[in-house]
Amino acid sequence: MVISPKVRGFICTNAHPQGCAANVNQQIEFIQSKAPYTPAGKAAAPKNVLVIGASTGYGLATRITAAFGYGAATMGVFFEKPPTERKTASAGYYNSAAFEAAAHQAGLYAKSFNGDAFSTACKTQVIEQINADMGKIDLVVYSLASPRRQDPVTGEVYSSTLKPIGSSYTAKNLHTDSQVVSEITVEPATEEEILTTVKVMGGEDWQLWMDALNEADLLSEGVQTVAYTYLGEKITWPIYGHATIGKAKEDLDRAADELRTQLSAVGGSARVSVLKAVVTQASSAIPVMPLYLAILFKVMQEEGTHEGCIEQLQRLFTECLYTDTPRLDDDHRFRVDELELDPTIQAKVEAIWPQVTTENLHDLSDFARYQTEFLRLFGFGVEGVDYAAETAPQVDASFSSVE
Ligand code: NAD
Repeated sequence: MVISPKVRGFICTNAHPQGCAANVNQQIEFIQSKAPYTPAGKAAAPKNVLVIGASTGYGLATRITAAFGYGAATMGVFFEKPPTERKTASAGYYNSAAFEAAAHQAGLYAKSFNGDAFSTACKTQVIEQINADMGKIDLVVYSLASPRRQDPVTGEVYSSTLKPIGSSYTAKNLHTDSQVVSEITVEPATEEEILTTVKVMGGEDWQLWMDALNEADLLSEGVQTVAYTYLGEKITWPIYGHATIGKAKEDLDRAADELRTQLSAVGGSARVSVLKAVVTQASSAIPVMPLYLAILFKVMQEEGTHEGCIEQLQRLFTECLYTDTPRLDDDHRFRVDELELDPTIQAKVEAIWPQVTTENLHDLSDFARYQTEFLRLFGFGVEGVDYAAETAPQVDASFSSVE
């Protein structure tokens, strides 16, 4: 079949296998171009890495950095749609197939589980495989972004919401498919919605993974674990930092504190890592974020400080995880969002924000880049890929599925 993008609102319902593979290979090349990766001081390089949420966005970039920067063995967990004869897989499926092929070719151990990371069965099966193939893990990265979670004990299904807290919030919003800038009003979350968002995107499941690994005696001396968060600034606070998702992210800080105490027994540590805003499947669903990103792209490119997932992860590993002098904030978090939060950058974005309209969108923001990056998430618009060619949706992949 000839595979062209099928965009519905803020999602694209198909993906291009060769385009996704080309994206993965570009990220691998970027990481290799920054070699050598020599941990500074007493820090040891990562050897055995588990990435939960490894198929797209920040989790995929994490896996690529660990494997191709440091030669680490990686176990990836994700929840992606496989292809059928007539339908493409989801992008993360193709990304992971391409990652595994490249890792195996480079002689690196790489195995993946496609299933619900929130379930006990997934944890048990991943841990059995780690025990059989890898031995103790020295880095656990929690990079899940999910709209719902089934509680593994009660079976109850919780949904997360993206709503302000306390009062309704009216803001500029960009409809990315019609390219219209208009106002949206988001009603405040109920107490119940705040709690369910924390249940899905908070730290509980991260802790369950760490407990399960610990019980299986699979955490190595000096193990590190990180979970990702976004803090942002004034424009995004009402819908992110000070909203339902922000509450869930506060719960990651609680979990990190508890995990740090527990892991001190093996000389390990747990930290929340603050990353910048980038275009991913998760962030494109957040109201306000696409317009903020389109403006941010313009401003950061003009300043020469634009970064995507792979640049952020390259810096997280070299400037925070594997150095004796990591960039930490007062809440013990790793920080690599400092270029986005630079006061000059934020002041420029804030100055543009009230002026931007449907008519001047392309002058005052880099919406073209936003769109390009959005389509690339699904393997479209990548240089060197023949999009007119007949393409089979099936690819070679040997992921384990959770029984
Ligand atoms: P993403 O949508 O690209 O990736 C989500 C990953 O989670 C995928 O690998 C997906 O397969 C996996 N996943 C979802 N549900 C799952 C389930 N039930 N079981 C197993 N795997 C599942 O998202 P992203 O933007 O890379 O977000 C990753 C983390 O980074 C999140 O915690 C997010 O809040 C954080 N973060 C994102 C941004 C941003 O701008 N995108 C900024 C800072 C921090």
